[in-house]
Amino acid sequence: MARVYNFSAGPSMLPEQVLKTAAAEMLDYKGSGQSVMEMSHRSKTYDAIIKEAEALLREVMNIPDNYKVLFLQGGASSQFAMVPLNLMNKNHKADYVITGQWANKAYKEAARYGDAHVVASSADKTFSYIPKLDPATFTPDADYFHICMNNTIYGTKYHTLPETGNVPLVADISSCALSEPIDVSKFGLLYAGAQKNMAPAGLTVVIIREDLIGNAQDITPTMFNYQIHADNGSMFNTPPCYTIYICKLVLEWIKNEIGGLENMKKINEKKAALLYDFLDNSKLFRGTVVPEDRSLMNIPFVTGDADLDAKFVAEATAAGFVNLKGHRTVGGMRASCYNAMPIEGVEKLVAFMKDFEAKNLK
Ligand SMILES: *Cc1c(COP(=O)(O)O)cnc(C)c1O
Repeated sequence: MARVYNFSAGPSMLPEQVLKTAAAEMLDYKGSGQSVMEMSHRSKTYDAIIKEAEALLREVMNIPDNYKVLFLQGGASSQFAMVPLNLMNKNHKADYVITGQWANKAYKEAARYGDAHVVASSADKTFSYIPKLDPATFTPDADYFHICMNNTIYGTKYHTLPETGNVPLVADISSCALSEPIDVSKFGLLYAGAQKNMAPAGLTVVIIREDLIGNAQDITPTMFNYQIHADNGSMFNTPPCYTIYICKLVLEWIKNEIGGLENMKKINEKKAALLYDFLDNSKLFRGTVVPEDRSLMNIPFVTGDADLDAKFVAEATAAGFVNLKGHRTVGGMRASCYNAMPIEGVEKLVAFMKDFEAKNLK
């Protein structure tokens, strides 16, 4: 069996041990005689799985007690609407920073439900940086302030958070969740589609401060109301049972094999440094993001020649480094190095790039 190094931006690699455990438990989960896929979500066995997943997430992310964890569906994209429907409830105003396509989609959706204000944007340079934010330009009576913490397509990340005072900070952490420790208490709400770093597709995780629950706009569909899901322990309807089970295995891997998010961060920094150091010294390739805003997870790079980029992607694919093609708005390549990408995957990619450079540098 030959497994490739999958640099996909999402869905993405899962830890091999997680896949092996899932395979071993596929037909008979712990003597239940059933797969987790087949089980009633109201069964005792499944109840233990979802409770353990939440307990592990709280432990690994150090989530304070006054926050609820919700296991939802609909992807991060549904949160673009759920956040304004539930939180734009006092002054019907919110601030947004436009740092890429996902941030822009979130802003556009919010503008349908209230007064969404663009504080800053980095569209002028193809989102290759995080704009410097001046709190004097923030809306003082906004119901919340929204950022996309790690910009999956463009490879930027906030390394310092905006100072929003009493205005709750809301962050899309789809592509950086579980990659390093995060101080949850600094946020009103965090959300993530799970398919980048937490689990397969199908699960959306929301971490919300309790006082922000319970004042949804009247038009909010029942399934889009955080209170409904909070009151029902994420079991108002059938949750994405199997994906939550895989998320539990991923959290066990982070806790027991990696040793928690501090260690996860060190490993991710090591991987990113391998690639960034090579890019900074390469005569053929270069990174597209300003150094101070670089993401640990998503690393876009180009040669500056579209034909050579295409040749690189084709040869890399043949050599077992897959999904390296960049987003069409950036061109070139993007290596997404999520938690499950082993260090040797990045080492081998860099060796392959060195070799490609030696053969193709004119
Ligand atoms: C992938 C991604 C999304 C979209 O997630 P879905 O779960 O497909 O809706 C939103 N935001 C960010 C930052 C992403 O990386």
